[in-house]
Amino acid sequence: MQVLENILNLLPEPSDKRIAVHVSNAAERALKQGHPWIFDEAIKKISNPKAAAGDIAIIFDKKNEFLAAGFYDPLSPIRIRVFQHHKPTAVGLDFFRKRITEAYELRRAIFADGKTTAFRLINGENDLLPGMITDLYDKTAVIKIYTPAWLAHFKNYVQALKDVINLERIVIRLNRDLSGQAEKLYGLHDGFVSDSSDGVVKFLENGLTFIADTVHGHKTGFFLDQRENRKKTGELASGRNVLNVFSYTGGFSLYAARGGAPKVVSLDCSKPALDESEKIFKLNKDCPAIANCVHETVCGDAFPILGRYKTSNTKFGLVVVDPPSFAKRQSEVPGALKAYYRLAIASLNVVEKNGILVMASCSSRVPADDFFKIIFSAASASGFELVEMDRTFNAPDHPVRFPEGAYLKCLYAQVKKN
Ligand code: SAH
Repeated sequence: MQVLENILNLLPEPSDKRIAVHVSNAAERALKQGHPWIFDEAIKKISNPKAAAGDIAIIFDKKNEFLAAGFYDPLSPIRIRVFQHHKPTAVGLDFFRKRITEAYELRRAIFADGKTTAFRLINGENDLLPGMITDLYDKTAVIKIYTPAWLAHFKNYVQALKDVINLERIVIRLNRDLSGQAEKLYGLHDGFVSDSSDGVVKFLENGLTFIADTVHGHKTGFFLDQRENRKKTGELASGRNVLNVFSYTGGFSLYAARGGAPKVVSLDCSKPALDESEKIFKLNKDCPAIANCVHETVCGDAFPILGRYKTSNTKFGLVVVDPPSFAKRQSEVPGALKAYYRLAIASLNVVEKNGILVMASCSSRVPADDFFKIIFSAASASGFELVEMDRTFNAPDHPVRFPEGAYLKCLYAQVKKN
């Protein structure tokens, strides 16, 4: 990890100076309830308006009592991301070691059986390390940074991570805003790998072997957040032909094959992701059910393809629909709701009588209840009756500490024709 060490030594040191901040009454109330974000317009008074990214802001209440401490980011609408509520703390190696150890402890029991070697170790705000996530793929840590506030603390964070977790490799992913600030990055870039490897990692999930491209893949290379839904779907797949819409690298498809689906179709608009799904099926050929399953890939836009299946009366016993986020900002929510409605109808049209629909949403701005209601109203408007089997939410390695952290929801329903 020599090169990474060199870059870490170039990054700015954390400042000793603290910024004193007073916020609006509403923000004070939210902070007291543990909310981690202070938006720019909520700041009423600040001791140093020229504070730099990564400076530590101490937020005081009206009586000048300590409320919270957070990382300052002068360019983000989320001006302060809180890492500590109620009582002050020092922020250095010990602090990061403690936070990482707590996060690891929360997950240790879940993955103790050794059948799963990849999980989210740090879920940002929800593990009190806001603006950053860390996913573990066996001995590779993929750190994704969302704010330049982390740069001044990154050396300590990486050291603490190596102290707590046995690592061979670190991959760094940067969100788009941060990638555009190259002058502040001292050579760090999206897809930085700490060794000479290509960042493609192999890992286990519930006993299945997967590979993920941690440098180029979506998120940190894999949708770790859908692990529980993949497992549950696999348990429902026996004897059913399965359509996996928005399949990415075929996670749901592989579980369905192991669960006894005779045929699985993976549908995605990304050819490289579909090629990966073929590789992943080959990697798991030792499992007889997977070897016996006919796996097909279909590349293209899900909406017209679902329409063509309807026209040709092609139907499946289980249809998984796990689209990308339809609402990245609040203004996109009405459009997202319409898209979910259309997608629910298009998907229901290709489910066999008494077949199963598994439909998920990862749009944090679309509340779970609205999402579920949309599916039910789409079903009744087009003459289907749904028998609800289950609703699921965030996976246990994606803990939720504030409303915006609860983004994942998934409905399992049997489809009856009226
Ligand atoms: N279910 C997957 C994750 C899905 S991520 C898993 O468990 O790993 C969403 C996927 O939707 C991405 O792979 C993306 O390529 C694909 N996608 C986005 N828009 C699409 C469209 N209009 N039609 C088909 N696929 C699309």
